Amino acid sequence: MNFLEERIIKDGVVKSNTILKVDSFLNHQIDIGLLDEIGKEFKKRFDGEPINKILTIEASGIGIACITALHFGVPMVFAKKSKTSNLGNDVYTAEVKSFTHNEVRTIIVSKDYLTENDHVLIVDDFLANGCALKGLISVCRQANATVEGIGIAVEKGFQNGGQIIRELGYRVESLAIVDSMNAKTGAVVFRDQDID
Ligand code: 5GP
Repeated sequence: MNFLEERIIKDGVVKSNTILKVDSFLNHQIDIGLLDEIGKEFKKRFDGEPINKILTIEASGIGIACITALHFGVPMVFAKKSKTSNLGNDVYTAEVKSFTHNEVRTIIVSKDYLTENDHVLIVDDFLANGCALKGLISVCRQANATVEGIGIAVEKGFQNGGQIIRELGYRVESLAIVDSMNAKTGAVVFRDQDID
């Protein structure tokens, strides 16, 4: 088991057979040392790629994206979800169905901060059905930016987002892939991955 899998076993809570709560270290209270490990691991996995920007989505991706950006020495941009935006009209937008809130929201990125010169690593905390990633990929396409890869902390392998995004041709690196969870027993089963 790697460091993130160990932490999920120790402090993660299986809320239902499809929802994993990680509020004590990733989504509400944040363990910065753990984020540092995550950022370091993304840097290791995507080393050599010409990444000059980290992109994520408000709100829970921001912490991971900040520390990942620190490891790459590049800026971080997050797609905003606010309806009343003071960003003006020079924006890229995409519709994203929220997994946790079950509603469709418009995400917004200013044209000032994503351009054809950008080589982007997209990062997020969770990958479920892939809606957040599809929205982020869409804004990159609109900007003619290049998506060099996608770094995910926790992929739920029993949902189809990972397969969809990989079949689109993107390299997705997930530090922990959950193959199944059991809300009754609290058990979490990870996919075997050959990493340290
Ligand atoms: P997707 O768009 O891939 O369906 O869902 C990914 C987004 O939903 C992530 O940005 C994450 O914030 C949220 N999410 C999806 N599944 C879970 C989960 O099991 N636990 C938590 N804490 N967030 C989740």
